[in-house]
Amino acid sequence: MERNTSKGSVGFIGIGTMGREMALNLLKAGHVVRAYDLNAEALAALAGHGALPAASPAEAARESDIAITMLPDTPQVEDVIYGAGGLLETPPAGRLVIDMSTISPVAVRRIQADLAARQVGFVDAPVSGGPIGARNATLSIMAGGEAADFARAEPYFRAMGTTITHVGGPGAGQTVKLCNQLVCALNLQAISEALALGRAAGVDLAQLRQVLLGGSAASWMLDKLGPAMIAGDASAGFRIDLMFKDLRLVQEQAQALSVPLPGTALVTTQYIDARAHGEGGNGNQALFRVYDRMSNQSRG
Ligand code: NAD
Repeated sequence: MERNTSKGSVGFIGIGTMGREMALNLLKAGHVVRAYDLNAEALAALAGHGALPAASPAEAARESDIAITMLPDTPQVEDVIYGAGGLLETPPAGRLVIDMSTISPVAVRRIQADLAARQVGFVDAPVSGGPIGARNATLSIMAGGEAADFARAEPYFRAMGTTITHVGGPGAGQTVKLCNQLVCALNLQAISEALALGRAAGVDLAQLRQVLLGGSAASWMLDKLGPAMIAGDASAGFRIDLMFKDLRLVQEQAQALSVPLPGTALVTTQYIDARAHGEGGNGNQALFRVYDRMSNQSRG
């Protein structure tokens, strides 16, 4: 597609499962994308779709209007911001950085303050919707930051998502995302328990799912991940390892604020169990295997 120079250019750092699809949608919307990732193969593949490969975060950002990061966790984002040749040292020409990874809200506030001291805006904008939402540009984007920075970021969000909400000041996007993750994990746990009970009682699990979807127990998890749970299919989508990371971030924030979250504590132990059984690289629906093991059953 022809690039439209009136559309802002983006230095995109982190083109993994999610970032690759998001960068492709920015390209489709006509933005110039300068991409950087530690993975040279991923970079070459994206270059085949029109992205300009960069040799460092600084190179991706230097001539771009904004920089977007989509990295695994807090240390990687801090590395790209604070490391040698990072975005603090070499901010994007348009002086706006958006982090769309799921990271610590405490780290977000520190990064925002450090960038603000250099007259660079920062928006934390984690996403929900998974790789399918990323591919279809239907992500839900929850953004925290100053109103003026959000306003500048919004046109870029429109290329990647459909539900775009400014939820508050710096770190608020991450807090809302962590609330989202807590609900997702506990919902998966509830579905696993219902399937374990239904199976033991000899109920048809496909029919059980259909009935629940028609009533007040309906949920995105049951709709989208239920079939894989029933089939015993643990293949990756959103990985167990990433949810475990998110639950750690939930607990860190809860402890800092003295908020008791007993449900989160319990489901976190089941994620530890899943990882101990080598399921870290599997999709989140593999939480049902914890229940398979407890009841000595196998569905896969
Ligand atoms: P991923 O592991 O597939 O991709 C991360 C990319 O970052 C990789 O390509 C990796 O090479 C690159 N990277 C790591 N460290 C780097 C560094 N220092 N410099 C440059 N590149 C570096 O992860 P993902 O699934 O795309 O998730 C990214 C973020 O989005 C995570 O915070 C995750 O929690 C969040 N998220 C993921 C999903 C999902 O379904 N996968 C959904 C919502 C949110």
